[in-house]
Amino acid sequence: MNCKMNIDEVRQRIRHALLTAGRQPDDITLIGVTKNVDLDVIQKAVAHGIDHLGENRVQELLSKYDHIKNVNWHMIGRLQRNKVKYIIDKAAMIHSLDSLSLAKEINRQAEKAGRVVPVLVQVNPANEKTKSGLPYEEVIPFIETVYPLKYIRVMGLMLIAPFADNPETVRPYFVMMKQLYDCLKQYDYPHTKIQYLSMGMTNDFEIAIEEGSNMVRIGTALFGNRKKGEEINGRQVHE
Ligand SMILES: *Cc1c(COP(=O)(O)O)cnc(C)c1O
Repeated sequence: MNCKMNIDEVRQRIRHALLTAGRQPDDITLIGVTKNVDLDVIQKAVAHGIDHLGENRVQELLSKYDHIKNVNWHMIGRLQRNKVKYIIDKAAMIHSLDSLSLAKEINRQAEKAGRVVPVLVQVNPANEKTKSGLPYEEVIPFIETVYPLKYIRVMGLMLIAPFADNPETVRPYFVMMKQLYDCLKQYDYPHTKIQYLSMGMTNDFEIAIEEGSNMVRIGTALFGNRKKGEEINGRQVHE
């Protein structure tokens, strides 16, 4: 696998999608999703300018954290309350906030650690039972409940779209997310700083970008196929 080639190709495709949407070529953050990826490969990717990395398991984030310096680690997977304390000083952002009890625990641990932790609210607009995330209509009431917590800062929304052989079929979910995101931006709640819409993965990132994503989380297209049978937040990966 040629890491640099993959990175260049993904960047090219991202630029093209931004252009298609009439957006600026730098209006996006690319997160390299490094689950199941070896350290030496990650280091090469970092050397080629990938400075945001995403992990969906606490244990894996911790085991890599000390070896890969000067990058931003994103916690993108389901987060159990009892594990928050391990990543509270390590995660640049937590993408998977979807309950009040988790919000309270992040807030509590962040206060202890003396930092304000940026979070995204994970949304599950297709109401998939296997996936975390709040139902679409609960997102605004949820944010109205959590934004006063002083040690978390809500900075946007995150979506894992349903898997589809043809990603065109999930475009409506990206559209819904963008509408919700714009709505939140307008509300302009105190202490929030809505500026990230984290959606788009290997299978669907171009469509997500066309519909307004400004943060994509890409694993397979950068690092190749992972082991079979692995799950993404409850979703079987078909590879
Ligand atoms: C694994 C994972 C990704 C990346 O998936 P690819 O299809 O390999 O690009 C993105 N987001 C989350 C939450 C993941 O767990």
